[in-house]
Amino acid sequence: MTSQSIFYGEECINFHVCVVPDRPKRKVAIHVHPDGSVQVDTPEGVANGEVREAVRKRARWVLKHVTEARRQREHVLPRQYVSGESHFYLGRRHVLKVSIDANEKAGVKLVRGRLEVQCPKDNPGMIKDLLWAWYRKRSMEFIQRRLNTHTDGISWLSAPPPWKLASMQKQWGSCSPKGALSLNAHLVKAPRECVDYVLLHELCHLKERNHSDRFYQLLERQMPEWRSVKAKLDGMAELLLNE
Ligand SMILES: [Zn+2]
Repeated sequence: MTSQSIFYGEECINFHVCVVPDRPKRKVAIHVHPDGSVQVDTPEGVANGEVREAVRKRARWVLKHVTEARRQREHVLPRQYVSGESHFYLGRRHVLKVSIDANEKAGVKLVRGRLEVQCPKDNPGMIKDLLWAWYRKRSMEFIQRRLNTHTDGISWLSAPPPWKLASMQKQWGSCSPKGALSLNAHLVKAPRECVDYVLLHELCHLKERNHSDRFYQLLERQMPEWRSVKAKLDGMAELLLNE
């Protein structure tokens, strides 16, 4: 078995070539496994260029099945922090591209829909830490900006409340008795309107502590469509909360 890759547009297809001696003459077969890996079976004596051409011809089909396989697994498997995996930011799925180079400065950039991680070592733990530092920085900026905007439109607030990011298993946000917000560190992965829904929900708790009718009246005034936004967030929760 040999590992190879080709580019199709911006996408990279990695595949293993498996020589199967008794395959019918010159027939190349492509399989996409449930883990998203691609296997290409060829009979003996087929030139490498021909194998690559066969993959290129079916590239669109291969990519569709690889993406589908990954999507299925993302619900259940922990993230591996490798190139090709997708990660969310503000509701969008971005493909991770990891570059390993000990001489380059470590960091994360969002370039044309791709999350590019520059890391000195091929170490998933280190890549994860870099990515999370990026998420936290983006969260601090984005959430603060949204809190400032919402505070302007809310009569019971004179200033945005203090807040922090927290590790939370099931909740997106909470509000302390002193009026400080804790927000789930994964929140910035959710679509913008879902982030706004969580923030407005917590800001309404600064006026009405419990989920009373009065609370929902306040929330409805701030975000009339909150039920559909909440349903969207609930539907994505498992995917977004997967580390
Ligand atoms: Zn609540």
